[in-house]
Parts: sequence; C-alpha cells; structure tokens
Amino acid sequence: MHTIKRHSLQKTLLVTGGAGFIGSCFVRESLKQYRGAIVVLDALTYAGNLENLAEVAAEPGFRFVHGNICDGALLARLLHEIRPEAVLHFAAETHVDRSILAPEAFIQTNVAGTFQLLKATLDYYGSLDAEAKRDFRFLHLSTDEVYGSLSLTDPAFSEDAPYRPNSPYSASKAASNHLVRAYHQTYGLPTLTINASNTYGPRQFPEKLIPLMIQHALAGKPLPIYGDGSNIRDWLYVSDLCSGIWSVLKRGRVGEIYNVGGEQEMSNLSLVNHLCVILDNLAPKNTSYAEQIVYVKDRLGHDHRYALNISKAHKELGWKPIETLDLGLRKSTLWYLRNAIKDS
Ligand code: NAD
Repeated sequence: MHTIKRHSLQKTLLVTGGAGFIGSCFVRESLKQYRGAIVVLDALTYAGNLENLAEVAAEPGFRFVHGNICDGALLARLLHEIRPEAVLHFAAETHVDRSILAPEAFIQTNVAGTFQLLKATLDYYGSLDAEAKRDFRFLHLSTDEVYGSLSLTDPAFSEDAPYRPNSPYSASKAASNHLVRAYHQTYGLPTLTINASNTYGPRQFPEKLIPLMIQHALAGKPLPIYGDGSNIRDWLYVSDLCSGIWSVLKRGRVGEIYNVGGEQEMSNLSLVNHLCVILDNLAPKNTSYAEQIVYVKDRLGHDHRYALNISKAHKELGWKPIETLDLGLRKSTLWYLRNAIKDS
C-alpha cells in the first residue's frame, strides 16, 4: 500500500504528462494502491492519449485537467486548489528524432515548461506550514541521455557522471535537471530527480523503437535499423520504472538524483532480432519477420551506448528492476498484438 506520511497536506498527487506512456502507467498502477487522489495535468500533444487512462477515468480518486505546463497561471490555480503532497513531473517532448528535426518544442516544454512548474510549485510550497513543507516533494523524471554516450568498455554512468548531452532532446532534459537542482540549492524546494534508462512496455507511442518495429513487422513493412545496429541501450520495463518512482518518492533523499535503469543492455540489432523471434512465435507467417530488417542512414549525433549504474537506488532505497528483457518484450508484444497497433 502506497502511503506517504502526511499531515496538513491533501492526499493528492499532481502528475504532469499523465496521459503519456510512462505517466499513464504510473497513474493506472498507483490508483490501485495509493490512498489518495491523483490529478493528471496534460496538454494532450500527439503523444498524449486519454485512452491510456480510460480504465481509471471513473475512479473517484482520479481527475484529468487538460492544460499546458507552460501556463503559469493555470499551474498556480491548480496547485493552490488541490494542495498536493507531491508533484510528479513527467510531461515532456520525448522523441529524439523529432528533437533533431524541430527542437523548439523541446526547449519550450522541457526547459521553459519545467521552469514554470518549478516557479509555481515553489510559490505553493511557500504557502505551506512547516510540517507540510517537511513532507512535500517535487519529483522530476529525466533520462540517462543527459550523461551522453559510452564506449563499449566504459563503466556504466553513475549519478556523479558529468552531463554531456548530444541531442536537442537530451540537452533540454539536462537543462531541466539543472533547473530542478537550482530550485533545491537556491530556494530549498524538496526535489528528487530520476535519470531513467530506455523504457518500454504497453501503450508507448508507435514512433519509439519497440512499438515501431512491431507495427512495421505486422504491416509487412521494412524494419529500419539506424547505421549498423550496434548502438546499445539499457532497457527498463515500465512497471519497474513505476516501482522505482515510488521508491524514490518515499525514501529518496531530498536534493538527490537516482539512476533507475534496467541493467539489461542490448544492441538495437539484437533487440529487433529478438522481437522478430517473439513475433515469429506469437504471430507466425511463412517467413521470419527478421527478413524485413533493413539498414538505414544513421541518426545524426547518434549516441553509441547508454548504461546506468543503479547501485545507489539499490543500496539506499532497496530498489531493483525485476522484469527480464525477454519476458518484458513478450508481454509488450502480446499487448500490441491484442491492441493491434494502427498503421500510421
Ligand atoms: P510520452 O511522449 O509518451 O508522453 C509525454 C506526455 O507529456 C504526453 O501525454 C504529452 O501530451 C504530455 N505533454 C507534452 N508536452 C506537454 C506540455 N507542454 N504540458 C503538459 N503536458 C505535456 O513520454 P514518456 O515516454 O511517457 O516519458 C515521460 C517522461 O519520462 C519524460 O519526461 C521523458 O523525458 C522521461 N523518460 C522517458 C524515457 C522513455 O524511454 N520513454 C526514458 C527516460 C526518461
């Protein structure tokens, strides 16, 4: 049962970006256990989908607010009205390829929007009594991509690795992390930051690698692999990230950053081959889906390898991922098959 010991605060969480992939999973899973209300604030960009929240829409503890984190007046009104015990900040522009083609939206939402949210939250925090202040948390969800890229032999990134973001997406997330840090250091806002690794699971927007490959495979289209497919990612099942978020929220030390990763590194080519084997098994056809693999021009500034050292979260919070990549991929593929991804 999820409880955060609270006194003069409402048993309410404000979740930004809760109609997206990770946010909606967090809300769906948390409403089963959290003894309080969850308010989702989401602008419903192309990546946000109310269908992701349909199964909790009628829950008495659930409320959806359609709005933008860049709207300071809305944030101020909402925070003072619902008086949350924590703000969980998931809203962001998240697709690296889009950030290369059109970076402005990333600066607007990820940097300026995070700033507006911090500003409004600090104002709300200032209105709380001492007991409520002690218990309040602002949790910021960010990415391993802020650390830049590793070679094959480098050790995994720990939390004190320098930030070397290489894409407009990762630069905007690094900037947001710095703003969160500054709001803690300068104003004493009780912040927590998570740098999470590549997350996958049901309901991910089908521009991301795994749902894109499943969609293309089922439609008989080429499975496009950037470069030679040797780029390595550390894969984290979305439910493991949600349990990591709760661990950090309940037990994380204020002002700290926690790496939350899957400890399951795999090259993109191996991952897609693995997916093809799963699809061959679950949705067989005459030939293997692997025959649809094609190699395409590499992504600009493509980071070679990400890997996270998660020993801090393990030692301090007792958190570890539990899903194996094989089972997580099978569960995800089954979901996409049952919910037949529409060809876009
Ligand atoms: P997503 O793209 O699926 O969802 C983002 C959500 O934010 C959408 O519902 C969208 O409508 C909303 N949103 C976007 N701009 C907004 C704005 N200006 N105001 C209000 N709402 C807005 O993203 P996701 O994969 O669920 O990622 C959630 C968070 O986790 C992001 O901050 C992302 O950087 C971080 N993260 C994601 C991954 C991953 O692999 N998916 C890994 C590490 C960290």
